[in-house]
Amino acid sequence: MRAMILDAAKTPLRLADVPDPVPGPGQVLLRVRACGICRTDLHVVDGELPEPKLPLIPGHQVVGIVAAAGPGATRYAVGRRIGVPWLGGSCGKCDYCRSGRENLCDHARYTGYQMDGGYAEFCVARERFCFPIPEGYPDLQAAPLLCAGLVGYRSLRMTGDARRVGFYGFGAAAHILVQVAKHQGRKVFAFSKPGDAATQNFARSLGADWAGGSNELPPEPLDAAILFAPAGELVPAALRAVAKGGTVVCAGIHMSDIPSFPYSILWGERAVRSVANLTREDGEEFLALAPKVPVHMVVTTYPLEKANEALADLRSGRLEGAAVLAVDPQATR
Ligand SMILES: [Zn+2]
Ligand SMILES: [Zn+2]
Repeated sequence: MRAMILDAAKTPLRLADVPDPVPGPGQVLLRVRACGICRTDLHVVDGELPEPKLPLIPGHQVVGIVAAAGPGATRYAVGRRIGVPWLGGSCGKCDYCRSGRENLCDHARYTGYQMDGGYAEFCVARERFCFPIPEGYPDLQAAPLLCAGLVGYRSLRMTGDARRVGFYGFGAAAHILVQVAKHQGRKVFAFSKPGDAATQNFARSLGADWAGGSNELPPEPLDAAILFAPAGELVPAALRAVAKGGTVVCAGIHMSDIPSFPYSILWGERAVRSVANLTREDGEEFLALAPKVPVHMVVTTYPLEKANEALADLRSGRLEGAAVLAVDPQATR
């Protein structure tokens, strides 16, 4: 199969012909149709996440068709369209796993990080951690649901019933979440890089009630803010924007250091928390909700061999919405 391979951090991916993977016990083999590109892929390629499997095939928003099943894998018939998310497996035995928090499992394994992912024509995945893709969602639209959508949804859940929600960083996740939040009757405030009028217009076009720069205060205090941009200086900025009792949720897996800030902006029962990974329950809940909203993805597509260009566009903030590799040229849009 053709695959894009990371040999070492901070080097471009290399297009190569490698043997097709073989599904092991409990695993399925997927013919990949599309793979979303996530900021976490950038963190892996840029060496900001430690010790990835090397060489590595990145990608953890994989939509594919089941082509074969390994020993004991019976959940999905050959021909079924399924998705592979970031959480590739958990131990099932630790305190976290047994209390519904498999996202915190110390022995979890992650797709496109410790296991090969979807920047390839085929991949294998543990079937218990895959999700059926909702009928009617085109392949290229479904891929970004699997991380941007899922982790974004978990982050939104962490805001409880916050009525006025701010999103800092308006990329793939926020463009999905603004639609979900509006569907839930919330008021949305979108914060982009200062002066980025195109992104602010994009946010308004998707239903944001207000859009401005991350250096601005919103016209009214927020009940919660979600930080999608990996910039630590946004934590004090968001704390200044939330009302007493408000929560600031850091949704990324990596963030630059948070500068010190006066206690007065945390005082008043404001809280700062992170959101880590996802559980299968998040996935099932979100994939059931997405078609009801319905979430429409704005997608920029690239062929498999252009993965480096796609990563560069994401790094520079050049693209709107979500970047997706159309691994199979027949992938539905
Ligand atoms: Zn565990
Ligand atoms: Zn991701």
